[in-house]
Amino acid sequence: MHQVLVVEDSPIVQKILRHLTAGAHDFRPVFAETRAEAELMIDNLENHFFCALVDLHLPDAPDGEVVEIMLDQGIPTIVLTGKFDEELQTDLVAKGIVDYVLKEGRFSYEHAIEMVHRLIANESTEVLVADDSLTARSHLRKLLELQLFKVWEAEDGGQAIDTLKQNSNIKMLITDYNMPNMDGFELVREVRKHPEWSNLVILGISSSEESALSAKFIKNGADDFLTKPFCPEEFFCRVMRNMDTQRLYEQVRKMAYEDYLTRIPNRRALFEKGGVLYERAKSKKSLLAVAMLDIDYFKRVNDEYGHEAGDTVLQFFATELQETFYRFLVARTGGEEFCVLFPGLKNDQAYTLVDAFRSQIASQSVQITEQLSLDVTFSSGVSSVMGHNLEEQMHNADLLLYRAKEAGRNIVVGD
Ligand code: GH3
Ligand code: MG
Ligand code: MG
Repeated sequence: MHQVLVVEDSPIVQKILRHLTAGAHDFRPVFAETRAEAELMIDNLENHFFCALVDLHLPDAPDGEVVEIMLDQGIPTIVLTGKFDEELQTDLVAKGIVDYVLKEGRFSYEHAIEMVHRLIANESTEVLVADDSLTARSHLRKLLELQLFKVWEAEDGGQAIDTLKQNSNIKMLITDYNMPNMDGFELVREVRKHPEWSNLVILGISSSEESALSAKFIKNGADDFLTKPFCPEEFFCRVMRNMDTQRLYEQVRKMAYEDYLTRIPNRRALFEKGGVLYERAKSKKSLLAVAMLDIDYFKRVNDEYGHEAGDTVLQFFATELQETFYRFLVARTGGEEFCVLFPGLKNDQAYTLVDAFRSQIASQSVQITEQLSLDVTFSSGVSSVMGHNLEEQMHNADLLLYRAKEAGRNIVVGD
């Protein structure tokens, strides 16, 4: 867990910050009231501070001396201050602070805490800078690294495309307009042709003489643009706002395709991804086996041990299923019913795998509480009869599943 050093002498502000950070899962705040106390904490080798939130005016450091101490230690620093001073702010930003927050009520403290969360997220976020000028690239790299982003560089559009192909983790592309070989517009257009990069955030940059180009960036598929010269704060705001939107979008997407209880793909994900696998198998006349799995007498678990125990069984089952069949497409299709798609496997091959999984589940107990563990089994039907669409093939597997249930459960039936 990340440790965040908070240096603040006001008891009221401390109290607010303690309250606002109480529920944080990704970091733990450590409080210091004075410069002396903060220095002691930094000197303690057991402490590694991920970043610091510091008050600009402390009794033993009235002129922001603590900020210098933090920056000297290489600790990313967010400054809290009581009054706005433009000159001082510009000076601090130039020195390399992460952000400058005016103490103007609850909202501003929330903003400071959000900044910490953002920094934590930025640490694992990769950004690509495309610009033919080394000076411009270095400047952008410096600004991005202050916000803890991992930075890649490209000298022109072609290099940018290659870098994107090699690093699927890149979440944002910042591109200049004027570049040799492939310019910014061509790069944006090219990127937008690739569906696998549809979530990539693109920020276009053009100089003020080319202000008409800015809007064109957006028309070509960029998410936002900046006009050179820009001040660091303007840059940070654009980057942050666009990253926030992207993260929100990814979260929504994840929620839409993931089963809430078991965290494995849901029915929607199965039909979208599985539909593609089905069509591919059909057009290439290749193999596809579909297994429907249903936990036996699951209602009894709920009735006898409660719904929560039932949920634990489902989570256990889903995790085992996902881990065992990680090479294949696994989904929770409803209640205690699951589905696995096996592209390229013959019916008896898929049958053998599912039957091995049956033994694996039957031989284990699910730990519900310290005192209670339960034995569960499942039945399954595995069909390679494809029918007209994936639903029909799943229905064929379902018919075999019913036969497995009728034959006594804890059984797998293939074609
Ligand atoms: P069979 O061996 O024939 O499959 O019998 P069964 O009891 O497993 O099947 P049945 O369809 O009668 O009961 C399924 C139960 O699963 C009923 C429903 O309340 C429960 N269920 C569905 N979704 C959830 C869930 O998310 N959590 C829990 N705890 N129970 C669920
Ligand atoms: Mg059942
Ligand atoms: Mg059922």
